Amino acid sequence: MLYNDYKGMKLSRLGFGCMRFKTDENGVIDQEKVNAMFDLAIANGVNYFDTAYPYLNGNSEIAMVKGLEKYPRESYYLADKFPGHSLPGPVDNIALFHVSLKKCNTDYFDFYLLHNITEWSIQFYDSEEYHIIQDMIKMREEGKIRHLGFSFHGGAELLESFLTKYEGVFEFVQIQCNYLDWTLQDAKRKYEIITSHGLDVWVMEPLRGGKLAVLPEEASAKLKRFDPDASDASYAFRYLQQYPAIKVILSGMTEPSEVEDNLKAFAAEKPITEEETAVLYEIAESMKTGVPCTGCRYCCKGCPAELDIPLLLECYNTYKTAEGNVPASMRLDGLAEDKRADSCVGCGQCTHACPQGIDVPAVMQELDRLYKEAPSWADLSKDRKVSIARDLGMN
Ligand code: SF4
Ligand code: SF4
Repeated sequence: MLYNDYKGMKLSRLGFGCMRFKTDENGVIDQEKVNAMFDLAIANGVNYFDTAYPYLNGNSEIAMVKGLEKYPRESYYLADKFPGHSLPGPVDNIALFHVSLKKCNTDYFDFYLLHNITEWSIQFYDSEEYHIIQDMIKMREEGKIRHLGFSFHGGAELLESFLTKYEGVFEFVQIQCNYLDWTLQDAKRKYEIITSHGLDVWVMEPLRGGKLAVLPEEASAKLKRFDPDASDASYAFRYLQQYPAIKVILSGMTEPSEVEDNLKAFAAEKPITEEETAVLYEIAESMKTGVPCTGCRYCCKGCPAELDIPLLLECYNTYKTAEGNVPASMRLDGLAEDKRADSCVGCGQCTHACPQGIDVPAVMQELDRLYKEAPSWADLSKDRKVSIARDLGMN
């Protein structure tokens, strides 16, 4: 296993993401499979396990801990997340934190994250009324959180302003990063912002929900020319291993065969070559079905509606690459109503200014349709809010 040093710890570079455990048609987790996967991962050096309060309807935390119960607590690192994006209103954050501690049968988390910060959820996380950050700092001071960070699904501007406002508070940031999102979701810029604040990067979705694990035949054949035995997924992992600030790469594994394959990519250093990287970027380009916005912002100055055009196009690209993408809808929910795509008046000045020649007014129309057709976050999060209220004995 490859390891990274982080504040005196030796973290396995491959982290076990616990959001994709196998479930039956009633949503019951296959615990035997979880146990078998954990045994295999631990025997091969994995020591980092990541869950979140809402994963698998609140059952991921419990299944994770059952899978770990025969191992000494100090032999692995536990990461969990605070569901600030799903709260039914201002709640007793510390009581909710203790619900997670109890479910995980522990009295501390090695790593604890504010879950899913976006342009929408920031209104709760950055709110005096909700005082989430202040409470989590308190939990860290009491030793119940060893290292505090956040997972992030918003845009680069929000990331910069949030880190600047809370300079010195957070110790790491978890972002969606892979060779496709390096450009598609601005992960390169986000990596640079995080490191410019002196922080390290945790990666989620290294395989983009499995999309990069099983590539289209033609793309996969290009990689097979380098090594007929290497899996498509192994290239995605080796691509990320080249970035020194990336300390943990979380893979949400479902089957033991995936654990085996993932482990191979983290068994020994095998730096990705320039030639391989060039092919990965070529494959990424072929997978992009959205627009080639580079985020240069030349279009923004003269927009009569004062829209954040690159942000809107990023959301559009997210919809086009991952159907029903919740983070895209959530980001749009977070914008003032007059800053969404339906405020575009179709003047076309942006297209004239755009070096990429993007037909922005046409994209705005389609984005508006995609946004209005997607399920709203308010509807999707209803059950989560109810379960938080229940766990806190509210009513
Ligand atoms: S076409 Fe729409 S997005 Fe472009 S400048 Fe005009 S109002 Fe703004
Ligand atoms: S000018 Fe074109 S490439 Fe640049 S941010 Fe605007 S839409 Fe994107």
